[in-house]
Amino acid sequence: MDRTDAWARTRVAFHTTAFLCLAAFAAALSAAPAHAAVAPLSVQGNQIKANGQPASFSGNSLFWSNTGWGGEKYYNANAVAWLKNNWKSTLVRAAMGVDESGGYLSDPVNNKNRVLAVADAAIANDMYVIIDWHSHRAEQNQAQAIAFFQDMARRYGNTNNVIYEIYNEPLQVSWSGTIKPYAQAVIAAIRAIDPDNLIVVGTPTWSQDVDVASRDPITGYANIAYTLHFYAGTHGQFLRDKAQTALNNGIALFVTEWGAVNADGNGAVATSETNAWVAFMKQHKLSNANWALNDKSEGASALVPGASSTGGWGASQLTASGTLVKSIIGGWASSSPPPPPPQGGQCNWWGTRYPLCVTTQSGWGWENNKSCISRSTCTTEQPVPPYGIVP
Ligand code: MG
Repeated sequence: MDRTDAWARTRVAFHTTAFLCLAAFAAALSAAPAHAAVAPLSVQGNQIKANGQPASFSGNSLFWSNTGWGGEKYYNANAVAWLKNNWKSTLVRAAMGVDESGGYLSDPVNNKNRVLAVADAAIANDMYVIIDWHSHRAEQNQAQAIAFFQDMARRYGNTNNVIYEIYNEPLQVSWSGTIKPYAQAVIAAIRAIDPDNLIVVGTPTWSQDVDVASRDPITGYANIAYTLHFYAGTHGQFLRDKAQTALNNGIALFVTEWGAVNADGNGAVATSETNAWVAFMKQHKLSNANWALNDKSEGASALVPGASSTGGWGASQLTASGTLVKSIIGGWASSSPPPPPPQGGQCNWWGTRYPLCVTTQSGWGWENNKSCISRSTCTTEQPVPPYGIVP
């Protein structure tokens, strides 16, 4: 392809722009959203990285998804979009209840549909989403967990958004004898479908014994992290010490759930201990999700009873915890600079691929003896997928 040919194609492309815009618009309406605006996550040593750079993300955990428990009404696209746009959340967690009443085992269709609604909304809003098997005894239903995560991996394994959390909070059971074998089986099933998305593994004692897991980590798989949960009204320096031990032993941690109140979900906000935890998480770049985006009458709820199920919450609809947590999440980005824009790639120019220019800033260019198109022209003149910058 020489330069003249490229210009000729450009002129043809302009003549056919009107038709192609209509075609692209129709395709965009009928196809799944083709967003890829969150960076891929990976684990290197004790760090979770985005686009290979140290980073951390902060957002909200929804309450149990169980039918009839009250928190399920927040599993919708409008609530998720409000968290992104108003709270500046970059992360949302779908906490799918499993073995309790109204959970996935007794009501699989409704619980899974709630998870899918949240995951699709997170993808549409360029957020990360944790798909959480919210169980305290997951090893008792390993086959069901495997089938569920195989389904999730087939649906979402090619996105950068989805994080698999395969066991919320194990009880005081053996890491090496009970939790690790379960995790290895579920991880193997996910990795057969999705080679790379982050997988987070629960740890003994309600995901506090990360130090125990760090002495016998899971090997043989990429991008595995371990769950740390804390409630600032109950857990203080002793638990940060366990987390520090785990980091020193080389495993990566993810705070998939934390509370500003007591571990039972009640009590007042423990402000100074919450601040100590926030400082610890920022120091070690630990991503985190607050428990819980719900309106149940308890200290951990971010919303007052009766708050709208679809966002739009004003200050009077936030609890003391919700007010503090919103400020923490809103200030998180300053501690996590966004990853650099991806390098490389090509421009899909109305169906024909051209190299992206390296030095030419606008219009078309001629680099390395080939026509190239600038990033700005590729994106501003044809913003509708599948056209634009492609891998
Ligand atoms: Mg993947």
